[in-house]
Amino acid sequence: MTNARVTAPLAAPRLSSASLCVLALLAAGTAHAAPSAVEKRIAAAVDRRTDAALELLAETVNVQSATENLASVRAVGDIYAREFRALGFETRWVEVPAEMKRAGHFVATHRGKRGGPRLLLIGHLDTVLQGEPFRRDGNRAYGTGSSDMKGGNLVALEALRALQATGELRAMNVTVVFTGDEEDPGSPQLVTRESLLAAAADSDIALAFEGSAPGKGVIGRRGIGSWRLHVTGVQGHSSGVFGDTRGFGAIFEAARILDQFRTELREPNLTYNPSVIVGGTNVSYDTATKSGTALGKTNVIPREVRVEGDLRYLGAAQFEAARAKMQAIVAASLPQTSAEIVVENEYPSMAPNPGSERILGVLDAVSRDLGAGPVVAQPPIERGAGDIAFVCGDGRLACLDGLGTDGDNDHAPGEYVLLDSLPLQVKRAAILMHRLTR
Ligand SMILES: [Zn+2]
Repeated sequence: MTNARVTAPLAAPRLSSASLCVLALLAAGTAHAAPSAVEKRIAAAVDRRTDAALELLAETVNVQSATENLASVRAVGDIYAREFRALGFETRWVEVPAEMKRAGHFVATHRGKRGGPRLLLIGHLDTVLQGEPFRRDGNRAYGTGSSDMKGGNLVALEALRALQATGELRAMNVTVVFTGDEEDPGSPQLVTRESLLAAAADSDIALAFEGSAPGKGVIGRRGIGSWRLHVTGVQGHSSGVFGDTRGFGAIFEAARILDQFRTELREPNLTYNPSVIVGGTNVSYDTATKSGTALGKTNVIPREVRVEGDLRYLGAAQFEAARAKMQAIVAASLPQTSAEIVVENEYPSMAPNPGSERILGVLDAVSRDLGAGPVVAQPPIERGAGDIAFVCGDGRLACLDGLGTDGDNDHAPGEYVLLDSLPLQVKRAAILMHRLTR
C-alpha cells in the first residue's frame, strides 16, 4: 500500500455493547485444554487436504494479479468464488467506480443456524509485483503473491473447509472479504473500502490473514500520516543575519523546527521522518513528483524552505497529540521568520483493545494445545499498514491479523511460503474460529 490521499475516520477507541458481549463469550475460550474430539476431527480434515491445498495455491499464484492487472485480479476472485460456493457460501463481486481503475472486491457470506459472534475474514487478491509463477523447491513454494497473500487467503479458505467437513461451519456466521486493491488502494479510500466497512458493521470479530511471524499475533498496526512544512524568512544581506531587521532566515528556522521534532516528540510507537527538504532564496517544490529546486547565494539570507515527511502512529489519540505538538513547535518562530505545517491522516491505525487482546489469548491457547508454543502480540512498530485497520480503527471489533502463512520476500523477487508450517496455520485458524464461535 502506498501514499494515496485519504481522510480516514479518527474516532477514539470505544467499546460497544456488541464488543462487551464478545468479551464475555471469549472469557471461556482462553482456558487451556487439549484439543477436543471435534478439534481433532478438524485437524484431521486439514491433513487430508495437504496436497489439494497446495494445488489450489499453485492455481491462484499462477494467475498473476498485480493491482493494476484488473482482469487477472478478477480471475483470481473467480477461483475463490468457485471454492467458497462449494462450501455453501453465497459469493458476489463488488464493483468499484470505473475511474478508480481498480478491479473490485470478492465477498462471500455464510449465514449460520445459530447466533453468536459473527466473523469477518479479510484477505486480498492483488499483488505488488507479478511475473514469478508457482514453483516448489523442497519446503518452499515460490511465486509472486505466494506469501502476500494468496497463501493467507488459502489458510482462511482451508480452515473454513475443515470446519465444513466436520459440520461445524453450519452454525457459523462468516463474511469473507478479499479486496482487489490492498497493495495500492483506489482513491478515495473510503469509497473503495465501502464494502469492507459494510461487512464490518455486521460483524463482531475481524480476522486477517496477512503473513504470520512465528509465535506472534497482530493486534496493533500503525497508521500513516503525512506532513508538509513551509517556512519563510526575510531575504537580505547575510551580514545582517541574527539582527532585529533580517532575523534568522528560513533555513535556521527550518532547522530549529526539525531538531525540536527530533528531540521533543519521541514516544513509543510514534515515528516521523522528513523525507525531502529544499531551501534558499528561490525555491520550487512539486508535491506530485516529490522533487524541487533551490537557489541561494552564500551572501544572502534565505527566504523559503519546504519540507515533506511521513508520520507513523498507533491510535487516534497519538496522532492528534503529535499533530498538536508539531503545530506548537512550528508556531514558536525565531525572529523575522514564520512557518506553517499541514499534518494529515492518510491510512488508519489499528490500536490494541481489550477484545483484540482476548482473541489473541484464544489463539495463544489454540497454538499451545496444538503443540506449537505460545503466541504473543507482535510490536506494532514491526508491522506496516493493512486493510484490517479500516475496520478496527474505532475499537468496536475485536481484531487479529497475522493469521496467514510463514514466508518471506514479500513485495520482492523470490517470494515464498514455508510448506511444512502450512497445515499447522490452517488448523490453528480453524480451531480458533471454532472456539470463537461455539
Ligand atoms: Zn498483503
